Amino acid sequence: MATLRCSCYAALPRAWGGAGRAVRAPLLAAWLAGLLAVPGAASAVPLALDQQQVMAGAAVLYNGRIADLRTAQLLDNDAAFHARVQRIVQPLLLQAARDYPESAAWQWEVHTTTDPEEHAYAFAGGKVLVSSAHADALNLSDGELAMVLAHEIAHAVLRHNLLEYEEAIRLEPAWAEQPFAALEHAVDHDGPLMAKLAPLGRQQELEADRAGLQLAARAGWEPHVLAGYFRKLVQASSAPNASGFAHPSPASRWRAARAAAAQLHR
Ligand SMILES: [Zn+2]
Repeated sequence: MATLRCSCYAALPRAWGGAGRAVRAPLLAAWLAGLLAVPGAASAVPLALDQQQVMAGAAVLYNGRIADLRTAQLLDNDAAFHARVQRIVQPLLLQAARDYPESAAWQWEVHTTTDPEEHAYAFAGGKVLVSSAHADALNLSDGELAMVLAHEIAHAVLRHNLLEYEEAIRLEPAWAEQPFAALEHAVDHDGPLMAKLAPLGRQQELEADRAGLQLAARAGWEPHVLAGYFRKLVQASSAPNASGFAHPSPASRWRAARAAAAQLHR
């Protein structure tokens, strides 16, 4: 899971993200240029990653995307969908605070959009965006939308961004000598590095599916209803058995979700 990569819509593994990245590219470029312009910013001080730093970087990216959507009048612009998401997500966030105490102190933000280029993603530290276009395309029930939201919450509470940056440094130790912003940019734009990180990304998607389903079940949702989201992904996919760059195949996610739901019923 790269900072902006997470989309629950496995049928379009990265296409949606292209638009998101295009929008934020000027922001990122300016930010990166600013950092790199500081004398000594790229000096050989080994990068010590921590969650606070990852959250701070994610907040900048999220705020940029939110500002773009607000300017385009696409932020929280479907009142009914926004209210529906808030109603469903609040109990999930309370459950997350119980299960993952670190997250209780986060400034969660859950925005919505009607932008068809967006689906759903979460940034480190609890910054979530979900598009009504995704929910409408799959005709999601409340329980299935809870699965989407819980999946995104899981990415955040499992610290998937931080783990990915750490893996990038393990794979390419030279990144430890670079400013964090450069690494943050690279995990979404450096093709060879992204290819090396893709297996971890697919593993993180399955983890977010499982942990999200368990979290939403503890919050009161029926596990098989939650798992039904992945059946809809399979039905909507033209190649349900094909893995994407960033996501396992819809069929494998559906199998895993069914198994997780069955286990919760034992
Ligand atoms: Zn995801």
